[in-house]
Amino acid sequence: MPAPALHPMSDSSCIFCRIVAGQIPALRILEDDHALAFLDIGPLALGHTLIIPKNHHQDLRDLPADTLAAISAHMPRLAAAVMQATGATGLNLLQNTGRSSGQAVFHVHFHLIPRREGDGLGYPWKSGSYQAGAAETWQRRIADALAAV
Ligand code: 5GP
Ligand code: ZN
Repeated sequence: MPAPALHPMSDSSCIFCRIVAGQIPALRILEDDHALAFLDIGPLALGHTLIIPKNHHQDLRDLPADTLAAISAHMPRLAAAVMQATGATGLNLLQNTGRSSGQAVFHVHFHLIPRREGDGLGYPWKSGSYQAGAAETWQRRIADALAAV
């Protein structure tokens, strides 16, 4: 039987495009014309789920807003299902953009990671603070950059 065709806007070297096309197996949880959710093969917690656009987009920066909206429309129910099925009391929605953030698969994806008290997961992130006047400088820089993208 011929392999299923890749979705329009796919990259044959991309592992997630190949999952969308059915060329690589995945344990699928939901699917529509725009989005696919499946179990992460290397779960941070049992039931760790990924949701991706069917079209190939590298990261959050090149994800069209309407595609993000189509993915987002599934989030409340998907989060509730992951939590209910796993008995989790919390959930992290995680998106890594860029290698330095931890992104390893360059087809944009959103992690739904079930959480519970004392599970030991989570980044050792420490919040910082701004020196006087510095926050306003960053606000302006980001707002100016926003006008240019
Ligand atoms: P990232 O670090 O890019 O945000 O996350 C990539 C995720 O994709 C990882 O959690 C990894 O376990 C998962 N992953 C990588 N390859 C495969 C695969 O072939 N199948 C599935 N189901 N998940 C994968
Ligand atoms: Zn892809």
